[in-house]
Amino acid sequence: MLTQYSGNRQGHKAKHLYLDPALPESQQYASCVMCNHRPANLCSRCRSCYYCSKECQESDWSSHKLLWQKFVNQQPPRPSPSHKRAILFPADDENPRMIWVLCERIRDPDDGVTYDSATLHPLLGPDNPFIATSHIEHNPIRGRQLGSGIALWARKKAGYAIALRYRETFLVDGPLPNRSIMASAGIVGAVPHKWCGSVVAMRTTWSEHYEDMTLADFRHTLDFLLSYGTTETKQSNFSSPSPSHGQSQSRPPMAIRGVMISCYGERKLHGSDRFVAVDVPTHHPTRTVGKSGSISPISRHLGMPLRLYKYPDIERWIDIPGWNRNLCPESNQDAAFLMMETDTKSSSWGFAPLYWNTQLGNVLVVRDDGKDLDVDHLGAICRFVRKRLLPMFEESDGFGSVQRTRKEVLEFITADNLEKFKEMQMGCGDESDSDYLDTEVFEN
Ligand SMILES: [Zn+2]
Ligand SMILES: [Zn+2]
Repeated sequence: MLTQYSGNRQGHKAKHLYLDPALPESQQYASCVMCNHRPANLCSRCRSCYYCSKECQESDWSSHKLLWQKFVNQQPPRPSPSHKRAILFPADDENPRMIWVLCERIRDPDDGVTYDSATLHPLLGPDNPFIATSHIEHNPIRGRQLGSGIALWARKKAGYAIALRYRETFLVDGPLPNRSIMASAGIVGAVPHKWCGSVVAMRTTWSEHYEDMTLADFRHTLDFLLSYGTTETKQSNFSSPSPSHGQSQSRPPMAIRGVMISCYGERKLHGSDRFVAVDVPTHHPTRTVGKSGSISPISRHLGMPLRLYKYPDIERWIDIPGWNRNLCPESNQDAAFLMMETDTKSSSWGFAPLYWNTQLGNVLVVRDDGKDLDVDHLGAICRFVRKRLLPMFEESDGFGSVQRTRKEVLEFITADNLEKFKEMQMGCGDESDSDYLDTEVFEN
């Protein structure tokens, strides 16, 4: 199907180049729309989008095929130079469309500044609704900057943005969920935010002059729709890289590896592993400004601060109909143990704060330094905590046969002791695991 591509994959090493909006437009586009790799070839079908490889072209194909012919043979032809190419996502039809939008240049009589006024009526509804606009200046999935300057306070004015225009009150005034957005995303249920009514995507400069949309912009728009409002992470298939094949293709650029610690219900219901490697995209709440989640105190002492984050779908675990309530499907002891207080002067020494002791569900763990977290390493940390540290914490509280001070416990929490523990565990894997699983008894 995609034989027209003639790109060269040699030397492709998933480099993630940032787009410099200061570059001339022709050069901005010359990086792959899917992975940012340069050089990339112009798509020979639409000549509106660059791909570095057949793989990247194929991964865009389910969306690209919806529009490329309509893009090439757009009918009617451009009615006037003031008409700009835009993409309409109709609410009641699965197929997005290329449209022309009349953009009249208006000069402010006071300061002489010009801007464009786009005529969208009646595309967003016959009732001429108030129109809201979301500007996309950055593609979080690909780690790609389209431009900057829409915000008044932005210091750098460059590049462009995609303006999504929709009924301001679509969540309350009742139009149907947008079918073409859901269909364009390729996978049912992939669009986390509920978009209702029709939506128009236009391309604008920071100074509000409209330009023609490209099919690369279609990709950026879809990526925005796919990422907006999500807290989801996808299971990583990056954990067994095969050097012969570009495994990195499957990993979104700029994503880091995190680990999901599965709660008891997740393991029981889905048979999930206790520790699951996941890709954590840049727009995930643990990675955006004002990072969500909490740092594990123990991990600080181990020299690798870990950020823990409760997945927001906890209700699913708390109220599973027909489940024995005593089983605590949302129980996640490993996560709770990681959050134990290590301040020797605190009255909560050895306890996780209430938030990390109740209603946990699945918990995401990422390295706070933004590097990949190895799933086996986190597993080792959790075993170390259960098997070495927990007994010591108990002893420091006067339980057990050994008397310990809190200071002694604290001094034991080091990267060195973790490594020694890992070495001892090697070669007795089976035994240590069954031993480990026995602690499930306490999850009743
Ligand atoms: Zn690519
Ligand atoms: Zn194309």
